[in-house]
Amino acid sequence: MRVNVGSLSIGGDEFTLIAGPCSLESQSHFLNVAQEVRQRGASFLRGGLFKLRTHPNSFQGLGTEAYSIARQVKEQVGLPFVSEITDPRQIGDMMDVVDVFQVGSRNMYNYPLLKELGTLNKPILLKRGLSALIKEWLLAAEYITQGGNEQVILCERGIRSFETATRNTFDINAIAYIKRYTSFPIIADPSHGTGNKDLVASVACAAAAAGCDGVMVEVHPEPEKALSDGFQALDLPQFSRLVDQLDQLLPVFGRRLAKPQ
Ligand code: PEP
Ligand code: MN
Repeated sequence: MRVNVGSLSIGGDEFTLIAGPCSLESQSHFLNVAQEVRQRGASFLRGGLFKLRTHPNSFQGLGTEAYSIARQVKEQVGLPFVSEITDPRQIGDMMDVVDVFQVGSRNMYNYPLLKELGTLNKPILLKRGLSALIKEWLLAAEYITQGGNEQVILCERGIRSFETATRNTFDINAIAYIKRYTSFPIIADPSHGTGNKDLVASVACAAAAAGCDGVMVEVHPEPEKALSDGFQALDLPQFSRLVDQLDQLLPVFGRRLAKPQ
């Protein structure tokens, strides 16, 4: 199955590269990252408006004040935009801000949210829950599709395991499994999957080799100054190197990077 977003199609021969900061930090910051990632080969922008942080005193995102920033930047740069929805009450305002609604890992089990998203005509990027079985994840997807919205894209972002050397354990099996046994497109998120900028490119390439339909990576021009998740953000040269690696790797699997619209 393919999910179409404008002229892009997720789940076909073209590989979707989604990039951007963990959180929108300001107009100038988001515009700068967006222009840089587009120029270097991203076909999709990411960036959090509402951040569900483990620590209540951590930066929670710019929230509603960033709607206008997101709208302006995505139009100026000309890339579709994916961002996380954390509450069904955000749907009305976010409908014309995002091209794809992201359901974060912490909300995979938020069935009232999933049911609301199931009534929309808008693609949903459904992240795997922190410790969710593949079976539970697929049932969460069904909460959306049963409402009539078939435009579900899964996102493997790592699961909690006994291992603490990395933030999460990226489940490469899940990529192969979803491709083999389901018809959902699947995107890999090696940023949250590893929590370590030095490991992101390797795991992105491994996921591409396992058959995922795209990768979503966090990118920041100055990761050490990021308001969230700087430790796992690629800087711009690292992002360019990843694009070069994917350019070389994907043709082996009969695919190519999608070009920006
Ligand atoms: C994110 O992608 O911004 C995010 C918060 O990821 P996750 O829900 O996978 O932790
Ligand atoms: Mn993040």
